Amino acid sequence: MPEETIFSKIIRREIPSDIVYQDDLVTAFRDVSPQAPTHVLIVPNHLIPTMADVAADDEPALGRMMSVAARIADEEGIVDDGYRLIVNCGRNAGQEVFHLHMHLLGGRALGPMLRPQV
Ligand code: AMP
Repeated sequence: MPEETIFSKIIRREIPSDIVYQDDLVTAFRDVSPQAPTHVLIVPNHLIPTMADVAADDEPALGRMMSVAARIADEEGIVDDGYRLIVNCGRNAGQEVFHLHMHLLGGRALGPMLRPQV
């Protein structure tokens, strides 16, 4: 069994978090260290550590993550100006929390997708 992260506690509402949406498949909450005026994390309620662990059974939750992202972007008023969705997978992507999550970022110009290599 993969090890739970702090996100499981947020999903079960065992620790405080600014939850903006929750249903039977996914939970969305504001990132504790926002990188943009809107920075929401959308996560499956069941633990999938990374994209590398995704299985066919996960498709309903993964699809719901996309539709919930679109809905929250609309509620946040960031659709017209645009926004970015990011899923980090593993070390090279800098994934810190090993409970699959999608970042929804918007509310300012986000610049190039990747920082230039140093
Ligand atoms: P990643 O680098 O893709 O794994 O992103 C993990 C994200 O989780 C970071 O943006 C953190 O700021 C965010 N994060 C970590 N702990 C919490 C928490 N307790 N509540 C909300 N966001 C968190």
